[in-house]
Amino acid sequence: IKGKAYAIYEFYDDKMRKEMMREKRIENNVAMALRDEEFKVYIQPKVDMRSGEIIGGEALIRWHSVKEGIIYPDEFIPVLEKSGYIVDVDAYVWEKVFAAIHIWKTGGITPVPISVNVSRSHVYQKSFAGVLEKLAQQYDVEPYYVPLEVTESMFTEYVDKLYKNITRLQSAGFRFSMDDFGAGYSSLNMLKDEPVDEVKIDRFFLKDIKKEKSQIVIRNVIHMIQELQLDMIVEGIETKEQAELLMNYGSYKAQGYYYYKPMPMTEFEQLLIKQQKG
Ligand code: C2E
Ligand code: CA
Ligand code: CA
Ligand code: CA
Repeated sequence: IKGKAYAIYEFYDDKMRKEMMREKRIENNVAMALRDEEFKVYIQPKVDMRSGEIIGGEALIRWHSVKEGIIYPDEFIPVLEKSGYIVDVDAYVWEKVFAAIHIWKTGGITPVPISVNVSRSHVYQKSFAGVLEKLAQQYDVEPYYVPLEVTESMFTEYVDKLYKNITRLQSAGFRFSMDDFGAGYSSLNMLKDEPVDEVKIDRFFLKDIKKEKSQIVIRNVIHMIQELQLDMIVEGIETKEQAELLMNYGSYKAQGYYYYKPMPMTEFEQLLIKQQKG
């Protein structure tokens, strides 16, 4: 028994060491990855469920590492948050989005809004608003075309700093979307106070959607958001049943694998072109 316990201990010890080494490797390679353009911006289309029309998109980052293969954000974003690198990586994604919209505008493609994610370490920083305003100017893109997604959990600390940034950016024309709504611990009550334009309903609500009780909850969340006169989109739709139920409840905007997975920017662009040619 003693030997066995020791083996398990060694196993975890080894696993932890490997994880730590991977974290270190990620950290050490970010600067190089930024320089070598190993970070790729993917876009997942947002659709009008009634027509299937693409009405926007969300920029999602991928790391095409030569050494490690494709690394997904859930793995490296927490590491970048810890090291502070996330600030550079966020700004890199934003710039790619502004640049793409600029190219569409000048190339005869009617742009759709492409939302970007804003990390926790960014929202409370003074420089945050300035960086975005400058990009909008530099690329001659109306801020309306780049909505900012912030997660509901960010509204629980340093709210005064966050509000300052939000109000400044909103008066510049940026729209704010509360991401992952319902995934965390926040109360429904916060919706009435937060200065957001849109609520992004988390896919957590779609779990067990066949059960009557789950339906009661999502139906009433939708109605509450409507009565508060906020825009809304549901994310993580994977099945036709989910889509139909949501439409019955009067929710028409969606993002999810049932419609499209995140795709390279050029692919998204092709879809837009195809849609506009009719
Ligand atoms: P998020 O902002 O909530 O983004 C939505 C995530 O759900 C994406 O994962 C997307 O691929 C996934 N998803 C979309 N539809 C479905 C579906 O039908 N089913 C399921 N199971 N998943 C779906 P992804 O791209 O791996 O990103 C994970 C998280 O990483 C994001 O969650 C966001 O918090 C963060 N992230 C991604 N890109 C960036 C970025 O450029 N900057 C920052 N700060 N965070 C980012
Ligand atoms: Ca998001
Ligand atoms: Ca989300
Ligand atoms: Ca998330």
